[in-house]
Amino acid sequence: MKLVFASNNKNKITEIKALLPSIFKILSLEDIGCTEEIEETENTIAGNAKLKADYITKKYGYDCFADDTGLEVDALNGAPGVYSARYAGENVTYEDNVQKMLKEMKGRENRNAQFKTVIALNLGAKQSLFEGICKGEITNEKHGNDGFGYDPIFRPSGFKQTFAEMNLKEKGLISHRGLATKKLIEFLKEKTK
Ligand code: IMP
Repeated sequence: MKLVFASNNKNKITEIKALLPSIFKILSLEDIGCTEEIEETENTIAGNAKLKADYITKKYGYDCFADDTGLEVDALNGAPGVYSARYAGENVTYEDNVQKMLKEMKGRENRNAQFKTVIALNLGAKQSLFEGICKGEITNEKHGNDGFGYDPIFRPSGFKQTFAEMNLKEKGLISHRGLATKKLIEFLKEKTK
């Protein structure tokens, strides 16, 4: 069964391929010849995940899933949320976003935050959503070199290390994306029983 993952992120695609039953043939955007940028114009994380999955299903006719992630910080009323990639502006680096976050959070006592991932799946005529949340806090400074994005300043609850001090496997077991992916995989496995 062909299923498009609306992503060109090779790491995410390899991970998903390894986890799914072989009946699912996972195709990337490149595989289906989709080279255009899918603009994320919605103002919620779920909205953008749905938008990307719907774009592919409508234009290319494939069953498809898409993910979207954001960091929600309590003291910033849930910001940057859906705008996490562009927190410090358009065309910024991960480092720019991290530095802006550290500045905004300087001296704040409430450092609670969460990562949220939503995966939207279009299978047949039906759409399903899978959510993964990882709660934690924003650290006062950067720790660790692994991972990407806000990983060096996000410490998940119950852990001494930031995400950037964990290896991929450790992070995947507790992360927002890991949890949402697990739900998607369980759902797809049920479908093949
Ligand atoms: P995306 O929806 O997966 O592209 O994520 C949007 C933005 O959220 C990224 O550009 C990163 O800044 C941030 N982000 C997403 N996932 C993670 C993560 O696991 N760790 C740290 N930052 C992340």
